Amino acid sequence: IKNNLLIFLREKHVDKIEKGKLCRYPLGMTGGQIQDEDISASSQWSELDLDNGDGDGAWCPDIMSGPDGLKEYLQVDLRSLHFITLVGTQGRHADGMGNEFAQRYRIKYSRDGSNWVGWQDRKGRQVIEGNKNAYDVVLKDLEPPIIARFVRFMPVTDHSMIVCMRVELYGCEWLDGLISYSIPDGHQMIYRGLDVYFNDSVNDGASAERLTKGLGQLTDGTWGLDDFLHSHIYGMWPGYDYVGWNNKSLPKGYAEMIFEFDHVRNFTSMKVHCNNMFSRGVRMFRQATCYFRSGSDWEADPVTFRPTVDRVSQGARFITVSLGDRTASAIKCRFHFSDLWMLFSEVAFQSGKMGSESSQTRTPHKHTASYNQVSTLLLGDDPTHKVDESNTRILIGCLVAIIAILMTIIVIILWRQVWQKMLEKVRRDESGSTSNSTYERIFPLCSDYQEPSRLIRKLPDTSCRALATSVSDGAPHYAEADIISLQESSDSSTYSIAAVNMNLFAGTDSSMREFPREKLTFKEKLGEGQFGEVHLCEAEGMQDFLDEDLSLEGNRDSPLLVAVKTLREDANKNARNDFLKEIRIMSRLRDPNIVHLLAVCVDTDPLCMITEYMENGDLNQFLCNEKLYIVLMTCYLFLCGLFSYSKLIGMAVQISSGMKYLSSLNFVHRDLATRNCLVGKNYTIKIADFGMSRNLYRGDYYRIQGRAVLPIRWMSWESILLGKFTMASDVWAFGVTLWEIVTLCKKQPYSQLSDEQVIENTGEFFRDQGKQVYLPKPLCCPDSVYNDLMLSCWRRNAKQRPSFQEIHTQLTESLA
Ligand code: AMP
Repeated sequence: IKNNLLIFLREKHVDKIEKGKLCRYPLGMTGGQIQDEDISASSQWSELDLDNGDGDGAWCPDIMSGPDGLKEYLQVDLRSLHFITLVGTQGRHADGMGNEFAQRYRIKYSRDGSNWVGWQDRKGRQVIEGNKNAYDVVLKDLEPPIIARFVRFMPVTDHSMIVCMRVELYGCEWLDGLISYSIPDGHQMIYRGLDVYFNDSVNDGASAERLTKGLGQLTDGTWGLDDFLHSHIYGMWPGYDYVGWNNKSLPKGYAEMIFEFDHVRNFTSMKVHCNNMFSRGVRMFRQATCYFRSGSDWEADPVTFRPTVDRVSQGARFITVSLGDRTASAIKCRFHFSDLWMLFSEVAFQSGKMGSESSQTRTPHKHTASYNQVSTLLLGDDPTHKVDESNTRILIGCLVAIIAILMTIIVIILWRQVWQKMLEKVRRDESGSTSNSTYERIFPLCSDYQEPSRLIRKLPDTSCRALATSVSDGAPHYAEADIISLQESSDSSTYSIAAVNMNLFAGTDSSMREFPREKLTFKEKLGEGQFGEVHLCEAEGMQDFLDEDLSLEGNRDSPLLVAVKTLREDANKNARNDFLKEIRIMSRLRDPNIVHLLAVCVDTDPLCMITEYMENGDLNQFLCNEKLYIVLMTCYLFLCGLFSYSKLIGMAVQISSGMKYLSSLNFVHRDLATRNCLVGKNYTIKIADFGMSRNLYRGDYYRIQGRAVLPIRWMSWESILLGKFTMASDVWAFGVTLWEIVTLCKKQPYSQLSDEQVIENTGEFFRDQGKQVYLPKPLCCPDSVYNDLMLSCWRRNAKQRPSFQEIHTQLTESLA
């Protein structure tokens, strides 16, 4: 009987959130959920030709014969509470033999089997338009949805025709278990002369000062919009989506709500959808205090929850109130106002049933669908989506194909990079092993830095002589410990910095104050450098150490996040001196694009320098991580070049600005590269590393006689061959840094060349016979940037290279 009479298919459960949209499963009996005894009728039904199924079996009440015809009903017991969003009806056609159907009908429902409520739509209409012929299934959305266990279909007829009905119900199980709530009736707001009603207009309980024994808008699966004056639902009044209360009308300062459940349950959390349009006096609640009741009395110890009140976003949102796994069959929550108004549009509970009374034992074929299984649900059996379904499948197919293509592209790109790196490694290993270098090579892999001994062998005569002279005096050149002292020497000849402002190095800066190290709280390790580790720390009272011109975030009382670079305990004297020299240099530098040294701890060991914290780490890694994103953007939008290019050039502008400042002090950085720039918020770039080399990038450096290190791939030919470090050689390095940025640090510069070849190439620059190799033009780099800027940074004649002032202007203009 049931197979023909009711076309129920199968049942699923979902969390109530978004139920209105997702919860549209046939609550069927073909799966065996609904037994014969669960279907009842006010009068006998006809059983017509039950043998061959389709369109035959139907309920045909005896409406014609008596005045009670209007009270006839067909009742379905779903055995547990369900959220019902859709109903379907069909007549009896019996393969052309029958022609009975219900043109109109009403629905009544009950949660407990004794209190019955007549369903009405949001505008108060009770009668649903049914079938127009005996064949077609007519589906009607229930707006608002019904939460019930029992549903009655009641045909409305003028007695002129015989009525037969086959029915379907759609929805899902009501896992919240909420059977009623009691809340203060909603209030009315007058907003700029407009009446805004925050009443619970679909509440199916009793109404006095409080609404009791019913469910309504707080459980209708519809969330309010950010702007409470508008509604999801067409043609409703302002404020329709929300139930809301005015602080002044509830003198206790809170709205008390009581939620009654079907069983004793174990509550994990409650989700409350709140409006937060504070510009109109509406804010989410300040505090929720919830009491629990399992028997007759409320338990004494409530759970209190205080959400972080959002003073920035006016967006409506769900707030999750943790209920601490408390056991109850009723919960009483007091929601405290934090402004004049408090508006809720939805309340949902997450709980587990206690004991063996699980609804699942009653419905053997139920499938459980969770809130997260949205995709499964969307592909479910919603009959109104039958046409959409095939489109959805095509769409999903396309998406899967696109994702597969993207993944393939990404894998190929990554594979190429790994492969290239391996080749480079092998090449370098080979060249390292065949070399009879007099310099000890301490970083054998991925080196971007070169040993001067090799240079000597490759050098043209002049430079050989220059180097030989220089070496013959016995002074170790390129020595790490001497990098600064070379700068200090002010000797503009070989292997020295040509023009350094001596003031930078004279004595310790008196403004650099000792910071009490006990006020530093370690948070995490940021990285490892040449000197030791760099840590993220909270510095208590650091604000007192800041110059007025340092506009760092945070209020005076809260600790500031800082980066703390520590000299490793076992550091030798040279390293210690280098560290102190870096402090000395940094303490004199003040520029928005140079990392600020904030304070130091040098009175006791280990020595520390405290600098501002740059959230996004170094630029090399930052751009590496951007790669995937850019690849995806390229594939999706085909616009990556345009989109990301200005951001990249914006970074280069900042570096050129920092370098402009350094050049105004005649300070030569000597090691400009993306690995030595740090990235803060909003793509802010600051130049750092006034020492040299770091472990992470050790492959970029060579060490000479156990001491000096050279970033050969960033160095100008005259720095490598003649040992000249000038502003113009920093400009050369800037050209390489710009190249790194535009190529998103995908490859090391001259990755196709071995270190020896890089040095040979330097010789070609010196000989200037047109055989020198330049870094290639990056893919999405405009001609103007490559030809006019990068190539000009690599001009043989240092004097013909642009100044940082010019570079900065040119880059800034290219952005405009
Ligand atoms: P360094 O010793 O300066 O080369 O730093 C080693 C690593 O620590 C860098 O690659 C960065 O990732 C990280 N680091 C250094 N200084 C900072 C800072 N001020 N803010 C954030 N991260 C930093």
